Amino acid sequence: MTVTTACPGRWSGSLLYMSGLPPSTPPEAFALLMEGNERFVHGDRLHPNQDADRRSALAPGQRPFAVLFGCSDSRLAAEIIFDRGLGDLFVVRTAGHVSGAETLGSIEYGVSVLGAPLVVVLGHDSCGAVTAAAEAQRDGVAPAGYLGDVVERVTPSVLSGRAAGLTEIDQFVDEHIRRTVDYLVGRSPLLATEVEAGRCAIAGLSYRLSEGTVGLVAHRGPLSK
Ligand SMILES: [Zn+2]
Repeated sequence: MTVTTACPGRWSGSLLYMSGLPPSTPPEAFALLMEGNERFVHGDRLHPNQDADRRSALAPGQRPFAVLFGCSDSRLAAEIIFDRGLGDLFVVRTAGHVSGAETLGSIEYGVSVLGAPLVVVLGHDSCGAVTAAAEAQRDGVAPAGYLGDVVERVTPSVLSGRAAGLTEIDQFVDEHIRRTVDYLVGRSPLLATEVEAGRCAIAGLSYRLSEGTVGLVAHRGPLSK
């Protein structure tokens, strides 16, 4: 970490991590994550940090370089689609990446206690939670059980999307990602302060199920040097 402070801009994400130090700035963390996704997309995964040595080295403590707050969809397995391993990502996932006190507290823990310089909000095309919210809003019928709570928390994104003239589910998905990024800094003074100080960035990414690619939908804080 002291190396990056002394030589800003010198290290790319992967070069830095090869030195054994996790990224300590938002741009370095974002670069490392995107490099892993590119390997996954092209079928060149390295499966880093998945061996017994890594497991042993991490036993005394963790220093993940990113908090990943994503949809629970089984096709969004975080360490696989970003080609990472043990101790790399602090993962918080709910259906439709809906958030409340517990998720905010978990994300704050990853940033303030574990020191992650990056928070990723990860949504995806054809999201079932967003589709359910759009259908519930259209039909005026809320799903039974606690599923109704999930839908309720996605509905404001559908409503604001419709108000903006959006009609497609994947457009609502992007709107929901944007609103989730806003929600994190709007509801958590801790995250807002870290972003304002440049110690942390929040990146809203949309994942494409067929291609495995991610696209940047919204961000707060610096993602490039
Ligand atoms: Zn989903």
